[in-house]
Amino acid sequence: MRADDEVAYPVWRARIADPKPAACSGCLRGADGETAFIDLGMPGDRGWLRDPDSLGVIADLTRLCLCEGCVREAAECLAFEPTLHRRHLAKIREVMADRDRLEEENRHLRALVAEGLVAN
Ligand SMILES: [Zn+2]
Repeated sequence: MRADDEVAYPVWRARIADPKPAACSGCLRGADGETAFIDLGMPGDRGWLRDPDSLGVIADLTRLCLCEGCVREAAECLAFEPTLHRRHLAKIREVMADRDRLEEENRHLRALVAEGLVAN
């Protein structure tokens, strides 16, 4: 593998937050029935959202969980286009399947050549 073939992956994994946090740690939007939240699996540095009168904790923002609106906004900064990326992924899988097939054919042909060299 060439060095420029390597892709850096984060050590953490984003996943759908279940249960949902009380509020987005980015925009502070409260959770509702429809909005998905993404748990980025790492601590945030927002502290707690408190009721101004009682100072009771309304939302724990110490874990980085973003609402789908914040995640979409971030993806747009990267010009992420789901359709384009799905097509790229499909093409990558197609090329990798071709590579696997050609490597198998190459192994088979090498074995035939080796047999021919032994037989002759
Ligand atoms: Zn948000």
